[in-house]
Amino acid sequence: MGAGFGGLWAARALAQTPVDALLVDRNNYHAFLPLLYQVAAAELEPEDIAYPVRSILRTLRHARFALADVEAIDLAGRVVKATERSIPYDFLILATGSVSHFFGVPGAARYAFPLKTMEQGIGLRNHILGCFERAAHEPSAEGRRRALTFAIVGGGPTGVEFAGALAELIRGPLLRDFPGLDPREVCVVLLEAREGIPPGLPEGLRAYTEGRLRRMGVEVRVRAVVAEVTPHAVHLRDGTVIPTETVVWTAGVRGDPSARVWGLPTAADGRVKVLPTLQVPNHPEVYVVGDLACVEEGGRPLPMVAPVAIQQGVAAARNILRQVRGADPQPFRYRDRGTMVAIGRNAAVACLGRRRFSGFPAWIVWLSVHIFKLIGFRNRLLVMINWAWDYLFYERAVRLILPLQARPSSQPAAEVRHPPAPGQAAEESGGAPKPGPDGPKPSAL
Ligand SMILES: Cc1cc2nc3c(=O)[nH]c(=O)nc-3n(C[C@H](O)[C@H](O)[C@H](O)COP(=O)(O)OP(=O)(O)OC[C@H]3O[C@@H](n4cnc5c(N)ncnc54)[C@H](O)[C@@H]3O)c2cc1C
Repeated sequence: MGAGFGGLWAARALAQTPVDALLVDRNNYHAFLPLLYQVAAAELEPEDIAYPVRSILRTLRHARFALADVEAIDLAGRVVKATERSIPYDFLILATGSVSHFFGVPGAARYAFPLKTMEQGIGLRNHILGCFERAAHEPSAEGRRRALTFAIVGGGPTGVEFAGALAELIRGPLLRDFPGLDPREVCVVLLEAREGIPPGLPEGLRAYTEGRLRRMGVEVRVRAVVAEVTPHAVHLRDGTVIPTETVVWTAGVRGDPSARVWGLPTAADGRVKVLPTLQVPNHPEVYVVGDLACVEEGGRPLPMVAPVAIQQGVAAARNILRQVRGADPQPFRYRDRGTMVAIGRNAAVACLGRRRFSGFPAWIVWLSVHIFKLIGFRNRLLVMINWAWDYLFYERAVRLILPLQARPSSQPAAEVRHPPAPGQAAEESGGAPKPGPDGPKPSAL
């Protein structure tokens, strides 16, 4: 269940063996989420980072795809209840991922822009471009400043990468498109509750990241804890109020809240507590992988990143094959290859094994790894062309404001702007924001 990194890699591993694998997703594509921030920053088209699942599975004899939304799971009867169909199973791999975590900050689930799905990426791009259009005919300086202030909450890798990409979009193409706007009225501010960005990286790399972002025009505020988000401002715990129409939330993620509804045992962060073999306790036929799985190594939960999901997807598939052959499943062990974060043109930081580097070499490694990991030759080519165009001409290829088609079941217009994920509305009820253990999103793939 889920054609993200965990589910897709599991299906591919199973498809090479004589079992029947059915991959189910509510979308007909696999999204390469590590580059979603570039869709939001108008650097890439959505289709550059998505690939149809049916095309991926076309050449695999034992794997099929079903477009369906999983609604319930009957663990005792071994049946998945999805939209308009029931899917019986012998073994089940759950890989439905995660949702944004707002830590109960009032207004955040309602007014902040999460960045987790393709729709959210496109919605955010529309909104940012719309802010410039509104500012262009806004008579009051205060109104223009509010429209042109972009607050990003969370200085983890996603927040850093988005802040850098947004600053480059604004200082390059957008200010050229809007010559009447005063660059001094534009502000990109990155808010991080902890000390240094991205948290968790060595001090030298954090200092480089912060310095580089500042030189790109990003206002970096560390130890800045968000207390409330309103339609027109973000309030910090120290009393600072930043008037803005755009608060982008990259501060944390939590397991897909459906898991709890489906009767699975979950930890405080919504992830499913699984055995070291990735099986659900008392259900040896059910595996959970990727962002949805809570697996500890060295006393700490594994991070919610793509390499963990990929390795767990393959490990779950192998364990199922062992069970089919009558052998015992093996415990999962994560092979951590390191962390990379892109900051902007010619600038990245990387921590690979004992090697730490920054600047141009790290940026080249980051580019190469992401091109290599993208699925499909066409997508790789399109991304390379877009990046080359941007690099050579300081120009973004796409800056369209595309209306999003609301799903038939969606809520009234006011809600559609940023619909809270299931279970997130409850977070509105208060509670102090705190840095999430899952905030950082290392880019090593
Ligand atoms: C903006 C952003 C940047 C990131 N950057 C990096 C990075 O640089 N490096 C890195 O390693 N990681 C990064 N990550 C994290 C990485 O993308 C996740 O760890 C990884 O995608 C988890 O894989 P998964 O298979 O568990 O879930 P996902 O890839 O999220 O896939 C879940 C799938 O399940 C489907 N689904 C969910 N619910 C249902 C349902 N009820 N019915 C049917 N289908 C359903 C979804 O449509 C989706 O296709 C980033 C994430 C984001 C959002």
